[in-house]
Amino acid sequence: MSCMIRASLRAHSRTLSACLLAFLGAAVCAQSQNAAPAQPAQTNPQSAAPSAPPAATQSATPRVRPIDAAAPLPDRTAMLRGAYGPFRANNDLLYYHLTVRVDPADQSLRGNNTVRFRMLKDGSRIQLDLQEPLQVDKILLGSTQLQYQRDSGAVFIDFPQTLRAGQVYSIDFYYSGHPRTTGRFGGITFKTDPAGHTWINTACEGIGASLWWPDKDQWRDEVDTMDLSVEIPNGLTDVSNGKFIGKTDLGDGYTRWDWHVSYPINNYDVSLNIGDYVHFSDRLGDVLMDFYALPADLDKAKTQFAQAKGMLEAYQHYFGEYPFAKDGYKLIEAPYSGMEHQSAVTYGNLFENGYLGRDWTGVGISPRFDFIIIHESGHEWFGNSITAADPSDMWIHEGWTTYLESLYVEYRWGTADAIKYLSGYKPKIHNLRPIVGERGVNAEPPEDQYFKGALMLNTLRSVIHNDAAWWKLLHDLYQHFKYQNILTEDIVAYCNQHTGMNLTPIFNQYLRHAQIPRLELLFGEAPGMVLYKWRADEEDFAMPIRVGTPDHWQILHPTTHWQSMQSDLTKDQFAVDTDHYYVDVNKQ
Ligand SMILES: [Zn+2]
Repeated sequence: MSCMIRASLRAHSRTLSACLLAFLGAAVCAQSQNAAPAQPAQTNPQSAAPSAPPAATQSATPRVRPIDAAAPLPDRTAMLRGAYGPFRANNDLLYYHLTVRVDPADQSLRGNNTVRFRMLKDGSRIQLDLQEPLQVDKILLGSTQLQYQRDSGAVFIDFPQTLRAGQVYSIDFYYSGHPRTTGRFGGITFKTDPAGHTWINTACEGIGASLWWPDKDQWRDEVDTMDLSVEIPNGLTDVSNGKFIGKTDLGDGYTRWDWHVSYPINNYDVSLNIGDYVHFSDRLGDVLMDFYALPADLDKAKTQFAQAKGMLEAYQHYFGEYPFAKDGYKLIEAPYSGMEHQSAVTYGNLFENGYLGRDWTGVGISPRFDFIIIHESGHEWFGNSITAADPSDMWIHEGWTTYLESLYVEYRWGTADAIKYLSGYKPKIHNLRPIVGERGVNAEPPEDQYFKGALMLNTLRSVIHNDAAWWKLLHDLYQHFKYQNILTEDIVAYCNQHTGMNLTPIFNQYLRHAQIPRLELLFGEAPGMVLYKWRADEEDFAMPIRVGTPDHWQILHPTTHWQSMQSDLTKDQFAVDTDHYYVDVNKQ
């Protein structure tokens, strides 16, 4: 367990209860009387699928959303799922083989997940997760049936003898039942398409993959590889993650579809897409691109999905090779707006540009491309390849991927349009609470992680003030952290080291405080002297910024203490380059 997590647990033990550490550790506390008033994460609409883009119905004008005003207090389920407690930390995931039979008529699942892991320390208990009402049928170590205790979605598995550090073990977790359908995208939904055929899809990031299959349902640890064997009625198609291995008629009316994932994968990225799909394919270099749509939408899909190739080209230009080349890239029609399932991006954006028919940033650029193809696929680099180790740091997925949208715009249409596109995000920002939330409690960051996160990165580009260095930093940072699960501190340390600058106060101000920095400017009666300083929560906040006029910017180096400059500009003439720096300005 890292020091950081310990600190987080200590913080909680003060605010919530002394019992908390006990129940994180021993798993079974008397009851959840210590938890603050229950506010299940799933009642928060943003919790449903936070890594999908915010709902497109959002107003283009600023408004106060109570949901952003304060982070919901974690309940017992969130604590058990969010904490990286001792029965998670004592092992390292290596491999899953999920075999699941899906019965569309009964809307039920029955399956087994083979979980292979290496013990990191001696122990006789581990924590996996499976949410009710799904049933645990049995858990086997070889032929030995293991004892277990269920608690609020967690399943604590006890072994008859001590598992030894360094040794690899494999257990088979059998389960069955009717999974819940809940949250923005349903978690798992049993639908029919407009032609009346079965259409079953999963999208479970916020609510957790243990909604529909047993796994170690957290963000810090990932398997290295995975196999999926999905048994579905004959005639349907399953599209899951990874490379399609083949299908086998099981002779009982069901066909098994086998998929192999050759890379680490988030639990929530593991996906079923079962339907009457038709398929077409393309290729970009060595990357096989497979597209799946309903038959009625095939022509529209062939036109719209062509954008995926340009997306891959743009992101490969900035960051390097598509992260999951051995698995290929897939784009799959789904009955919700979209989700970044690894190597199997799901799509429901009406086969139109923009986002659900709208000019998403309201400045005329969004209608040039399909927001879902560009955004969700960007997560292959930030979210799927580089993954936050705790949901608290999810801006690593969403802030970066929102910034990637602007890189796509820049690659296609140039810098000016990219800056314009990003500026269109400003009215969506609330600045009501910090972007980085509490660790270890499955806490969901506010929506600002998307837009403010992207504008912070654009601001950093201006701070570095050398595009060649910026592009190298982006590329090298991605390459350094790819396939890893990291925290904000890792990104900050990398940027400090590779720029030679102390960017920590800047990252902290944007990520760990609600307010953005405000440039205070004091003008005298006549042009001549201007006083300036930053108003910021970070005491040593010092960020260069361009001021003056657009055809003659000069770089100021304000700190949180007053300084003065000579200027012939009047208060009205004196401008601040807020297109390239996301800051407030107060002129007096
Ligand atoms: Zn996203």
